[in-house]
Amino acid sequence: MTERVFLDYAATAPLLPQVRELLESNSVYKLGNPSTLYSEGRQARQALEQARSSLAGVVSCAAHDLYFCSGGTEAAGTLVEGIARGALEKSGKKTARMHIVCAAFEHPAVLQSVLSLKRLGYEISLLRSGKDGRIAPERLEAALRADTLMVVIMLAQNELGTVQDIACLTRLAHGVGAFFVCDCVQGLTKLPIVLTNLAVDAAFFSSHKIGGPFGIGAFYLRPSVPFLPRQLGGGQEQKLRSGTQNVPGALGFALAAELETARMQRGEQNRQGFLRDNLLKQLTQESSRIRATVSIARTNTSTHLPGHLHVLVQDIESQTMILKLDEMGFAVSGGAACSSNTLEPSHVLTSMGVSRDDAYGALRVSLGGSTSPDDCDRFATALLSLLEVSH
Ligand code: PLP
Repeated sequence: MTERVFLDYAATAPLLPQVRELLESNSVYKLGNPSTLYSEGRQARQALEQARSSLAGVVSCAAHDLYFCSGGTEAAGTLVEGIARGALEKSGKKTARMHIVCAAFEHPAVLQSVLSLKRLGYEISLLRSGKDGRIAPERLEAALRADTLMVVIMLAQNELGTVQDIACLTRLAHGVGAFFVCDCVQGLTKLPIVLTNLAVDAAFFSSHKIGGPFGIGAFYLRPSVPFLPRQLGGGQEQKLRSGTQNVPGALGFALAAELETARMQRGEQNRQGFLRDNLLKQLTQESSRIRATVSIARTNTSTHLPGHLHVLVQDIESQTMILKLDEMGFAVSGGAACSSNTLEPSHVLTSMGVSRDDAYGALRVSLGGSTSPDDCDRFATALLSLLEVSH
């Protein structure tokens, strides 16, 4: 039997073998509660702080500005709501900045959190991207107001793979005194993330997207930003996120971040970019029904994630393709993992002006460290043969 080919790293990257080994080791099993005073607890605290320092090294920020939580979704809600509530409390509602700008293509974890702030009286401006899947600085500039509290725009778009110029967008937000919150879930270890250069006020990351364990993530928050914690309790994580920390998870997350960063530094970006470019070429040359959703400048990681390909396929629905390809041994997605159970076209595609008909044929292929040239060739052959049959 031929091996299955996994091409949905943007949904979840398979656990790295070294991380699995660590999680199964005795040293992790023996850890106590990091808030306790005896030696098992102190060892756990030490391990937790080592994980924090190592992750802070990967994203270039101070370790004490990084907080562990359960993942990207929790981090998004915690930051967006925490900053909005914190600012409201600080202002005593007299001089409240009551406006938020958010990219229309944000992940639902962010979008729903932002939209829920209407309840608190916030006015929300949703910013559409251009056909290139990127937010033009002029669009943000036009949306900013004197009372804009925060701007929320992600680093790398999870369906399209497009990368935003966050440093530039942050400068514009800061120009009117607004805070900048950045979802870095898809960018972590695929792009060099230097938080000090990006100058964002808050950012967040998720472990399972980079080959770390599920159920662990982290957020960065600049200390001067007003913030009210959402999860109250024992005051862990400097009172910003209560709850006993997932120490094995944090260790696995930090190890995955280090390993994947080292892999990137050894030229993995170029390798994946090359595979992705070849795959796109093969698909579009051999079928006129397939086109790239956004044009991709060859292996340019400042505008596009290296191993990420999003295409629109004519006259066939995403779900049909995904299920048929699954039967043929390939795991790919129609866009975001969490919306792949719905029959509605992706909000990301419709917000950038893709017609509903075209959006129904969306397919996302995301490569990772174990993807080989043969995997890509076999996938291309499978998709092309499927399209021949379906015509
Ligand atoms: N943000 C982006 C860009 C994502 O791709 C995801 C995962 O799909 C999330 C946030 C949510 O992260 P998690 O799965 O850790 O809750």
